[in-house]
Amino acid sequence: MLTINDFNFKNEKVLIRVDFNVPLDAHFNISDDSRMRATIPTIQKILNDGGSCILMSHLGRPKEGTADKFSLRHIVDRLKELTNTVVHFAPDCIGDEALSLSANLKNGEILLLENLRFYKEEEKGDLAFAQKLANLGTFYVNDAFGTAHRAHASTSIIARFFNGKKCFGYVMANEIANAKKVLDNPQRPFTAIVGGAKVSDKLLIIENLMQIADTIIVGGGMAYTFAKAMGGAIGSSLCEDDRMPLTLELIEKAKAKGVKLLLPEDSKIANKFANDAETSFCNNDVIPDGFMGLDIGPKAIAAFTKEIEASQTVLWNGPMGVFEMSNFENGTKSVANSVASVTQKGGFSLIGGGDSAAAIYQFGLADKVSYVSTGGGALLEYFEGKILPGIQAINDEQAEA
Ligand code: AMP
Repeated sequence: MLTINDFNFKNEKVLIRVDFNVPLDAHFNISDDSRMRATIPTIQKILNDGGSCILMSHLGRPKEGTADKFSLRHIVDRLKELTNTVVHFAPDCIGDEALSLSANLKNGEILLLENLRFYKEEEKGDLAFAQKLANLGTFYVNDAFGTAHRAHASTSIIARFFNGKKCFGYVMANEIANAKKVLDNPQRPFTAIVGGAKVSDKLLIIENLMQIADTIIVGGGMAYTFAKAMGGAIGSSLCEDDRMPLTLELIEKAKAKGVKLLLPEDSKIANKFANDAETSFCNNDVIPDGFMGLDIGPKAIAAFTKEIEASQTVLWNGPMGVFEMSNFENGTKSVANSVASVTQKGGFSLIGGGDSAAAIYQFGLADKVSYVSTGGGALLEYFEGKILPGIQAINDEQAEA
């Protein structure tokens, strides 16, 4: 895996695909700049080598052409503060002005390009658009793991114009190394915890993890589809009836492979989807009509805790309940605590792919686990066993057109 540590960037104009898709408030102030801060070491390495950086990113989901609320100009000042150097801004990511700003860029300086998604060609992976971007630089670095599962112009197609002159930035390299640690060579026992609302979103990941994990723990809303498929009464809990046969297949596959598939035995149930609902506890196969399971119950917590704490490697994707409501956060919090505890005892833990990362921050445990991925959908697809276009584009030498 080639990273920026394998190159010297003196006199190179390095096009870096970054993820500066930061949240902006109503006054265009950045409410969380962690994605920007994460990329600073990559930028600094290139500037310190005596090169310059041309940064490209998307921001939000602009529908049609340009829109000021999605302009990356709002982040220029913050970028100057974080990098302590000259930052130029190209109000169009391609075209004559961008070309001339790039030509005049001095070593040690940064050029930030306007939002790539102002062009529909970006998400379409348009080759001519990718070439126009490529013309701005002499070297390509991908440091945007969050979009690595997309074959967009700036994340994948562009790489074919930089054979021998392309690599991963530190953010990408770190994400890949941590995911590989779990997928390729996990210390055993390896427990994968999968939760969240919908089983349909997680079927592929469960199937793929069955090839690797010793134990798979299933929690959250998706567990009720399993419970109903096995003949249980689940009241008005979340359920995807059309997926019930697939859940039974998963149970059979796990048995055949000798993988322990742990489902929650009980739930905290509620008479409405609200924090002030009337609640009680019951087993997952006898949830009364008019009640829904919104969190795993004490028996499930005890069983999951025991299993997690006996593991050497833990992958966690998806909450155990509606953790956004304080009355239904306990299951997710207990799992988070167990994951932190096993890490403190020397195990390896990787958290990511959406809401479990949010949960680990909510409970203040982010620095007590081994790695919290920034990847969302990209991490999920990686664990589904898919080849990510953003990774493949760097690893493969490709024909130019
Ligand atoms: P996902 O994006 O699929 O990982 O799902 C995360 C969402 O699932 C969170 O917003 C949780 O509130 C929700 N969730 C987890 N457990 C349940 C449940 N038992 N009932 C309804 N929603 C749930």
